[in-house]
Amino acid sequence: MLELQNIGKQFDQKVVLENIDLTINNGEIVSLLGPSGSGKTTLLNIILGLTKMDQGKVIFNNNDLSNVAMKNRGFNIVFQDYALFPHLNAYDNIVYGLRNKKDIATDAEVKEYIDFLELTPHLKKKIGELSGGQKQRVALARTLVTKPDVLLLDEPLSALDGVIKESIKERIKSIAKEFNLTTIIVTHDPEEALTISDKILIINQGNISQFGTPFEIMNQPKNDFVKNFILRQLHIKRQNIYNLFGEKYA
Ligand code: ADP
Ligand code: MG
Repeated sequence: MLELQNIGKQFDQKVVLENIDLTINNGEIVSLLGPSGSGKTTLLNIILGLTKMDQGKVIFNNNDLSNVAMKNRGFNIVFQDYALFPHLNAYDNIVYGLRNKKDIATDAEVKEYIDFLELTPHLKKKIGELSGGQKQRVALARTLVTKPDVLLLDEPLSALDGVIKESIKERIKSIAKEFNLTTIIVTHDPEEALTISDKILIINQGNISQFGTPFEIMNQPKNDFVKNFILRQLHIKRQNIYNLFGEKYA
């Protein structure tokens, strides 16, 4: 279980996050959903240990990680721009995090992730030779081989479109379920959040607007922000919503 307790953060005396309390069960997919500038990436980086919080606690399976360095937390992230190494081929990117730590994923496990993400035909390619969806899969593989306890994804779908976006979305879902991997996904897109998550945390200007299942958010929006941001501004593919919630919302 991942618990965030009363997390607060300011940048240059501006409050960016306030009183963030959140509990995520192991194996759950949770989206952090909110408009640009609402504090989503900052919260993700605080969980990772990359950004220092001003107050609050990050607790994982009853261990207080608040003062534990990023490399010792056991979490890993796929950054929004993937941050792949352009001078290395796909395979060398994937195993980069294992170079000094042979005990993380075995060769067989690395192969399993590569197969799972259908990257075998692309392993020798340089990053510049890969499509957007292939780059995203390489970035995912590179993070997964470090066998994180919590997988953090910053806007993993926003650079992709159409069919590729759907296919990466389905893969992220099946990875989380197959490996029972707690997964936290930052997105500004209500449709993505509603269709990928077990639960959604809606953030507005650094504050929690609502936390609940997609069904709860659709059926019991807690306030006007949720109603406007989620329900009215939703640029939804009608079929996706129909599949999830029935024709009332389609
Ligand atoms: P989101 O990911 O929801 O778009 P961010 O967490 O990136 O939002 O940013 C939240 C707010 O914090 C924004 O106003 C942003 O300008 C500010 N911010 C983020 N990182 C820094 C930083 N390193 N220094 C100063 N301000 C920052
Ligand atoms: Mg962001």
